[in-house]
Parts: sequence; structure tokens; C-alpha cells
Amino acid sequence: MNAIRYDFRSDTVTKPSAGMRAAMAAAEVGDDVFGDDPTVNRLEQRMAGMLGKDAALFVPSGTMSNLLALMSHCGRGDEFIAGQNAHCYKYEAGGAAVLGSIQPQPIAHRADGTMELNDIEAAIKSGDSHFATTRVIALENTFGGRVLPVAYMKAVAEIAGRHGLGLHLDGARAFNACVALGLDIKDFAAPFDTVSICLSKGLGAPVGSVLVGRGDLIETARRNRKMLGGGLRQSGVLAAAGLFAVEHNVARLADDHRRAKALAEGLARHEALRVTMPDTNILWIDMDAALGERFTAYLGENGVGITGRYGQQRWVSHLDAGDADVAAALALVDRFFS
Ligand SMILES: *Cc1c(COP(=O)(O)O)cnc(C)c1O
Repeated sequence: MNAIRYDFRSDTVTKPSAGMRAAMAAAEVGDDVFGDDPTVNRLEQRMAGMLGKDAALFVPSGTMSNLLALMSHCGRGDEFIAGQNAHCYKYEAGGAAVLGSIQPQPIAHRADGTMELNDIEAAIKSGDSHFATTRVIALENTFGGRVLPVAYMKAVAEIAGRHGLGLHLDGARAFNACVALGLDIKDFAAPFDTVSICLSKGLGAPVGSVLVGRGDLIETARRNRKMLGGGLRQSGVLAAAGLFAVEHNVARLADDHRRAKALAEGLARHEALRVTMPDTNILWIDMDAALGERFTAYLGENGVGITGRYGQQRWVSHLDAGDADVAAALALVDRFFS
């Protein structure tokens, strides 16, 4: 594998811009474990206000944010319902089970990424002592870059409300969804008790996520963040990057979405590639497995970074990959197929 020149592996590869670094360097800081880092406090208040929630908590990663949310909703031996391919079930090293003693109840996805409402409802356990007690339903939006409908989120919220369950949103890329929908993040977040948002993906901050939600749940999360080793000290240096990100890098997500579409259209010119048109900044392509192996290897050898295996590729656009990178990558793709 040669050095990556055109990096479409993930939006997590974005590096802090000069403006963001300047904001970090100038950040006023204190000891956040004592609650006196003014920049962290400002980020938390800002995010709570943006989402229309009581409180927010700055945390080192999206994985910790989801875990803290589940630990706020659930006690030992309780259960959370999530999609079979949900990040908080499948891609977080089993943290809820290992660290929270919380049992997952995964549910199959329909082709559009949603879960069948009847399946969710049927999985909710009664008070019978055979069962772990269901406490929360976790949704994810965007889900693999796909925007799930607001009506779906509201329908799941209705089920959660009827059964007295909490509702969590893994909104790692919630701003991508809102930009694609033309919706205010406050309206998007409204059905949820807790929402986790990544600053370190398309928003371009180097580190950090924010868990936003109901005051009592965030208070519990603050205690558990300390327990998990996520209590940071002069983290205002990092929070300053987050503030810069939400102030400067939200509306421009539309550029990433436009570039993902341009990539999709360029790739779709090749008949062997089955391209799913992206809703946001993540593009999926399916192809014959043998072709996939050759094509993925070729891209790697030619400095195009993507993730792929078993005849599937994922391309992710982001603020450090501009129009010229898209054009250069597509030219290399054309050369492979010519
Ligand atoms: C990236 C991601 C996370 C976790 O974020 P990390 O900061 O990498 O731990 C959680 N959920 C979704 C949907 C993600 O894409």
C-alpha cells in the first residue's frame, strides 16, 4: 500500500484547520473535573441550547458518549434495544455489556435501515423475572450515511413513551442528517432523551463528542464519565476546537454531500459497480467479490484511501477532500476500468 493521497476512508481523518488551531491555542482553560474550564462549559451550554435540551457533557469519544447514555438509562441487568448493525451494539467492543452490565437486544434492519416497529415493540420485555428489564431504545441517524425519516424517529418515540422507556439517538453525524433534511437540529433531537454527537468526524475537530439530554441523565453520565476515566482537566483546548467546528463547519457539510454525489455519479459510469446514491457523505458500492479485491487493491496502490472488503466499498467525503481530490480519484477509477 502506497501513501494515501486522496483519503476517502472516513471523515475522522480530517485535521484541525489553521483557524481551528488558532482557536485552540487561544482557549481559556481551567480544570474541567472541578467544573471550571470556561471553554468546556461554553461548549456544553452551546450544544444543550442548540439541541433544546437541559444539559450536555463533553466526552473523549462517541463510543464513550453512547456507553454513558446507555449507563444513564440502564442499570445492571437491564437491557437496551438497538439495530443489529447499530454502532452502539456492533462496533463498540461490547462495552455496554462489559462495562455497564447492560444486555443488548438487537433487532434486524429493513432494507432502508429502519427497524420494523412491530419487531421493536415485540422485543420490549415485561416485568417477568425471566427477563432483563428493557429500559431504552437506541436509534442511529445518519445510519451508514443514510438519513432515516423523522416520521420513523417519532413513531419509535411513541412506542418508547407508551412503554415508559427512554430513547437515545446515536447522532454521531446528526448534523449531516439535518443539513440533508434542511431541518433544525433542535427539531431533529426533539423526540430523544439523550443524543450523542461527534465533533471529530465531518465537523473536523481532532477529538471529542458531546452527550446532550435531560438533566438527570447527563448528571449520571458526568459521574460515570469520571468512573470510565474520561474526566479531563484543561480540556478547553479540545472544546475550543468543538466550538469552532459547530460555528464554522456545519453548513459546509452540504459540500461534502455534493462531493459524495459527484463520486457516486463518476463511479456509477462503470457498469460493474452497483452504486447506491448517497443521502449524505457516505457512499456504498457493491460489486463482484473478485473484482472488489482487485479494484480495492488498485486504489490502495494508487494512493486512493477507501475501506472495502467482500465486494463492498465505502467512500466517505469530508472537509479535507476537495473537488480536485474527487476528480483525481475518479480519473484513477476510469483508468482502472479502461
Ligand atoms: C464514529 C461513530 C461512533 C463512535 O465515535 P468514536 O469517536 O469513533 O468512538 C458512534 N456512532 C456512530 C454512528 C459513529 O459513526
